[in-house]
Amino acid sequence: MTTKLIHQSQQDFFATDTSKGVDFRIRQLKKLLAVLKAHESELFEAIYKDFKKSSFDTYATELGLVYHEISLFIKKLKKWSKPKHVRSGLANFPAKSYIIPEPLGNTLVIGAWNYPYLLSLKPAIAAIGAGNTVILKPSEIPANTSACLAKIINTNFEANFFRVIEGGIPETTELLQLKFDKIFFTGSTPVGKIIYKAAAENLTPVTLELGGKSPCIVLKDAPLKVTAKRLVWGKFMNAGQTCVAPDYVLVDQEIEADFLKALKTEIEALYSSKKVTENFTQIINDKNYQRLVQLIPSEKVYCGGTYNAQERFIAPTVLSGCSFEDAIMQEEIFGPILPVIAFNDLDSVITQVKARPKPLSCYVYSNHKKDIKKLLKSLSFGGGAVNDSVMHLSNSHLPFGGVGQSGIGSYHGKYGFDTFTHYKSILHKATWLELNLKYAPYSLKKLKIVKWLMG
Ligand code: NAD
Repeated sequence: MTTKLIHQSQQDFFATDTSKGVDFRIRQLKKLLAVLKAHESELFEAIYKDFKKSSFDTYATELGLVYHEISLFIKKLKKWSKPKHVRSGLANFPAKSYIIPEPLGNTLVIGAWNYPYLLSLKPAIAAIGAGNTVILKPSEIPANTSACLAKIINTNFEANFFRVIEGGIPETTELLQLKFDKIFFTGSTPVGKIIYKAAAENLTPVTLELGGKSPCIVLKDAPLKVTAKRLVWGKFMNAGQTCVAPDYVLVDQEIEADFLKALKTEIEALYSSKKVTENFTQIINDKNYQRLVQLIPSEKVYCGGTYNAQERFIAPTVLSGCSFEDAIMQEEIFGPILPVIAFNDLDSVITQVKARPKPLSCYVYSNHKKDIKKLLKSLSFGGGAVNDSVMHLSNSHLPFGGVGQSGIGSYHGKYGFDTFTHYKSILHKATWLELNLKYAPYSLKKLKIVKWLMG
């Protein structure tokens, strides 16, 4: 079936109102959960072929989160989909007012390569949960995972409801020429702009989950061992190819030397030479490998700094003595290289971070309440954590998304449901009483009453 025909069939299917039924949605989500679990080993195999991502990592950072999201939606859907009654106010008496959550319609989900299952399926779950049809376009870069998703979804779901369409720029461009009721995109800021422009042609609402340089700020009271451990884990998981990974560290110069030592100790503990090759994800392709290797200035390597082109492997690397002017500070790193910049004045840190595009995440390591409050109030970013890295995205009660250059809109849990839902407002008037206040002829007495009613 051509892309156009699939799109047409989804429009026709949505028009039947079948996907609006809450039981239908729950059935589809249960089916998705069962189908993914049944093909789990294939999914593990495909991603390992693409970039040597281990089954443990794939489960802990992708499939486990996908299963959790499906289960949450199944549990909460009935409640979330119910009309919500609100007050009508005296001016509308006698009436009731309610809000009906309704699906937006035909949706397009475009995924990124770095968490190919999570970033494709999690928005698709929200779209289905909210009662929409879905065309899912996973990233073409991890070719095996894209093919595996297409095979699993397309053999188990009807094309007129949920369909994976594989491809790169030409296929996405073709999709963007069609009219959707919602486009959910995860990827880079430059491509986000292309999506936004194409969506504007049809006034299609978008959610853009983009990237950026996420700072990690370590204050002088931070407990070094646990700070280093949580930071190293968040930075180097998936070989640093994580949108919310700490991109760079700003550390108080009073503790810089001890902090660097602690980082090295934790890297050695987590990735001893044997474990590195076994548990360390590859850089996704040669292009990114070459880009990253160019970003390592040998004179600034504090630890790591080794690499192997054949394996597309770059050891967890810490750079010290860095500044905002360094080449590595001019782009999102998206790899296992961590530049550390020392500071001696928190206000200058705030000024420097504020002068740059709003990041997707920000992490603060400290127990100093006043400084934490100051940083959280002053800096704008999508979301983040105090005394942890990355883990905020595992909490479905927190909306996940960027702000400014790092994105528009959010999802996860109920926020995902909202992202794919239109809240239709209804004032439902009774007919047994008609107050003639709003009708002509007007009088001073009527004006007085209106003034009183409207406050
Ligand atoms: P990308 O923008 O290159 O690609 C994303 C998707 O867009 C892919 O499906 C790709 O096929 C498609 N695409 C690429 N070029 C296109 C074009 N010219 N026209 C139409 N479609 C096009 O991003 P990526 O390399 O897959 O992912 C890396 C980026 O994504 C990083 O910046 C990272 O921070 C960001 N990211 C953000 C999140 C988040 O949740 N906010 C998650 C993961 C990655």
